[in-house]
Amino acid sequence: MTEPLLKDKTAVITGAAQGIGFAIAQLFIDEGARVVVADIDATAAGSAADKLGGSAIARGVRCDVTNGDDVDAVLGAAAESFGPVDVMVNNAGITRDATMRTMTEEQFDQVINVHLKGTWNGTRKAAAIMRDRKQGAIVNLSSLSGKVGMVGQTNYSAAKAGIVGLTKAAAKEVAHHGVRVNAIQPGLIRTAMTEAMPQKAWDQKMSEIPMHRAGEVAEIASVALFLASDLSSYMTGTVLEVTGGRFM
Ligand code: NAP
Repeated sequence: MTEPLLKDKTAVITGAAQGIGFAIAQLFIDEGARVVVADIDATAAGSAADKLGGSAIARGVRCDVTNGDDVDAVLGAAAESFGPVDVMVNNAGITRDATMRTMTEEQFDQVINVHLKGTWNGTRKAAAIMRDRKQGAIVNLSSLSGKVGMVGQTNYSAAKAGIVGLTKAAAKEVAHHGVRVNAIQPGLIRTAMTEAMPQKAWDQKMSEIPMHRAGEVAEIASVALFLASDLSSYMTGTVLEVTGGRFM
């Protein structure tokens, strides 16, 4: 039998109480990792950890990724429960869609803060621990919206494009310390974030997808596993599109 891909690794996944982050947590545990579910909602983080199998393999910790001290605390909790972080997934996210004509400054700032500053916090703080241990993998969730720009998402597209630049710059800074930093650009994935979309917008997106279907969270989780594990040991600073061929 082959070894699980993340045997005895400690993974921290932000925004993992639901959606893509939760699916990543499930798959990482199936592959031998122990996982900290870091989410802004403490109760949701705790019940996600319970669903994942409880305290021997999963711990829920409240963490607002926009706050550097919270990110330090979650990394500290991971070390205390399972050992120093080996894999960091910066996945937490929100949308505040509106056209530029109606978007408020607050909506712009909120999205930039959670996605861009949150990913910066997670990347720099995990990298600081990993570089001392000369190993580690960081996976950042960008979006196809950051590649092509989407109407109503000047905030989100800017943040998700920013995550690509951040990923590449960070990858160059820490590559010689044995730490890899890569990003995923999902297309339309079926989660709470996208199921709130009006039917007309959903149908429009569907017509743009060569594979004629939305992706499932497990199809992002498997790519996160690839980037988190030694399967991608010679890859850093890359951006993998998981889109069913949309906007290739
Ligand atoms: P989701 O179901 O809404 O999950 C995101 C999680 O992040 C939620 O539990 C959310 O909590 C949490 N969160 C929000 N703000 C936070 C903060 N400041 N600190 C910590 N946690 C916070 O979203 P998803 O669809 O799984 O998306 C996950 C990631 O993939 C996001 O970065 C998203 O932009 C990206 N993505 C998704 C799609 C898609 O089609 N679904 C496509 C491209 C990229 P609350 O629910 O309480 O806000």
